[in-house]
Amino acid sequence: MINEKKLKKRVEDVIDQIQIHNKHYYVKDTPVISDFEYDALVKELEYFSQTYPHLVPADNPLKKVGGEVSIAFSKVKHRLPMTSLSNVYSIDACFDFDRRNRSLLQKELGRVDAISYVAELKIDGLAINLHYEKGLLVSAVTRGDGVTGEEVTQNICQISNIPRSISCLKSLDVRGEIYMEKSKLESINRERNLRSEPPFANPRNAAAGTLRQLDPSVVASRGLKFFLYLVVDAEIFGHVTHAEALSWAEELGFPVNSSRQILTDITQFPELIQSLTIQREELSFDIDGIVLKVNELAIQDVLGATAKSPRWAIAYKFTAEEVKTIIREVLFQVGRSGVITPVALFEPVEVSGVMVSKATLHNQDFIDQKGLGLGDEVLIKRAGDVIPEVVMVAHRAPDHLPIVTPSHCPICLTPLIQDETQVAIICPNVTCSGRLKASLFHLGSRYALNIEGLGEKLVDQLVDQKLVQDPWDIFSLSTEQWGSLDRLGEKSISSIVLELSNCRQLPLERIIYAMGIKLVGEKTAQLIVQQLEEWQDLFLMSKEAFEAINGIGAKTADILVDALLLLKPKFEFLHSIGFRMKIERHQLSGLFLGKRFVVTGTLPSYTRKAIEKLISDHGGEVRATVSKSTDYVVAGDSPGSNKEKAILLGVPILNEDTFLDLLKETKL
Ligand code: NAD
Repeated sequence: MINEKKLKKRVEDVIDQIQIHNKHYYVKDTPVISDFEYDALVKELEYFSQTYPHLVPADNPLKKVGGEVSIAFSKVKHRLPMTSLSNVYSIDACFDFDRRNRSLLQKELGRVDAISYVAELKIDGLAINLHYEKGLLVSAVTRGDGVTGEEVTQNICQISNIPRSISCLKSLDVRGEIYMEKSKLESINRERNLRSEPPFANPRNAAAGTLRQLDPSVVASRGLKFFLYLVVDAEIFGHVTHAEALSWAEELGFPVNSSRQILTDITQFPELIQSLTIQREELSFDIDGIVLKVNELAIQDVLGATAKSPRWAIAYKFTAEEVKTIIREVLFQVGRSGVITPVALFEPVEVSGVMVSKATLHNQDFIDQKGLGLGDEVLIKRAGDVIPEVVMVAHRAPDHLPIVTPSHCPICLTPLIQDETQVAIICPNVTCSGRLKASLFHLGSRYALNIEGLGEKLVDQLVDQKLVQDPWDIFSLSTEQWGSLDRLGEKSISSIVLELSNCRQLPLERIIYAMGIKLVGEKTAQLIVQQLEEWQDLFLMSKEAFEAINGIGAKTADILVDALLLLKPKFEFLHSIGFRMKIERHQLSGLFLGKRFVVTGTLPSYTRKAIEKLISDHGGEVRATVSKSTDYVVAGDSPGSNKEKAILLGVPILNEDTFLDLLKETKL
């Protein structure tokens, strides 16, 4: 039996919390919980309102646009409400949106007209309504609570890409997003950190906080920008579609984002998500999703709006689970090339199903931009659902201790220097034992020599006991020397000796990669060996010959020529001790020739990379995104949108077992 009293109490709690967080987010511009946590509260309230409608008051946060009007500015009532957007998180929900539009049209008109959509970037900033009279900008009003907003015309006039006058004499309202570019946000957060002020949590809060400044000169210094995304009452100006209205606004001199695209059919949306997601990193501003709008204005009118959002548009939001934890310690690791990398050690937490206890903090700039300190509670996520990453400080510790890169190498105590070409700080001592340990660790790593048992502890001992001065020295160690190491029993010694002996059969590309040459990854190593007949040919390659290889640039070619000159004796030594360094032609067979694969999600026993290698080893082609020309999708757990798209396009989906079966079958 459901305890209604308890449920009612929970509903009240959820409503209270949403209201409190709305205030922090919209009014104070300093959220104290992540969007993910906030959206979870909203989802919970939605669940209650659908399942127990009698327990949820009619006047609840689901019915309102979540903002307020600051008393510092004059209030202006919007001629037409400024609503929010309904958010969806999956492609399926976008298809539902299209289905709902069609059934509403059927209901209202008794027929379904062709619907096209405009997909636009969802800029992470805040909405503004600009009103022009006789071609002049006369007022700029924020969204506020959707009905009434704040008049911020003075401040808006400081934004250089908003036209003050236009060649349209009719009364005109346009709407768009005020945003701050990523680089600007970073520099403002750096300054705030120097003043011990908390950094802005996101570009939206930074833009909103700036627009609420009472001093317009502060706004001018913050470099805000604007993108128009709506012409209000566009029909009055003779437009039939939203896309036409945007192009017209662009001609009038408004900045309109050029990534917008017309989709003649909703099935084109998944491909667009893929390409926009890839472009996202390169944008100078942040986006938090893609907005999908019905293009035909007449259809928009039929679909109408709720009090909170139009029915003719939705926001497909990018998501990543964000979890809170505490920074307990920061280690400054020394890499192979001497680069010092700060690594945060956390109180272990589960993020998207995986326990996370550390994440790289990249460099001092990253630490300063985020204002990170020891003891701080931070939000972390797994970028691209894989690599743990610190998003922001959630709560600054009262005894917050700033994290500062040391002036000397934590391993060899050599004074650190700034790398001229990057933001990195490096230990210039080529004999630093930290660098040697990192190189030895790389040598034994999976895609290099893959030496089982050569873990961090063994690497530490080998270097600390000065048994190796160069990573390749491990091939010269005697059984007695291995035996001198702590906690290495006879069994372990013989298994590591066997591992080392097996390395002699590895193909040349693995040896090249294991050498740890700057900018030379596994792919580059593979490309190089395809040009050779035998390993000695490596030293006949000129800079031009390297550059002629598709996929190798001038910088890498330069590095290769210099590095190989120095490394030649090492290759000769390896050959003398039995390394065969065979050239492996990159196709084991042509079984998958002409076939295109996409590998997605986490597979039970193979890594994605290993499956991709099997595919290319057998002549297949691996692509990042599913399209009509994809032959197979190999999908594991948490596959993301590629799987949904494959279903939609009818591309066969294999799991790890069925893929391996296919490999066997095709071999027969
Ligand atoms: P929203 O940001 O999800 O979407 C609506 C807004 O998108 C519009 O008002 C407009 O400003 C903007 N937008 C950007 N590009 C656009 C485009 N091309 N076309 C149309 N609109 C575009 O909605 P919201 O109501 O502003 O905010 C709700 C979200 O804010 C929540 O889902 C949550 O993620 C976050 N929030 C977080 C907290 C917190 O405490 N962390 C509190 C409140 C809200």
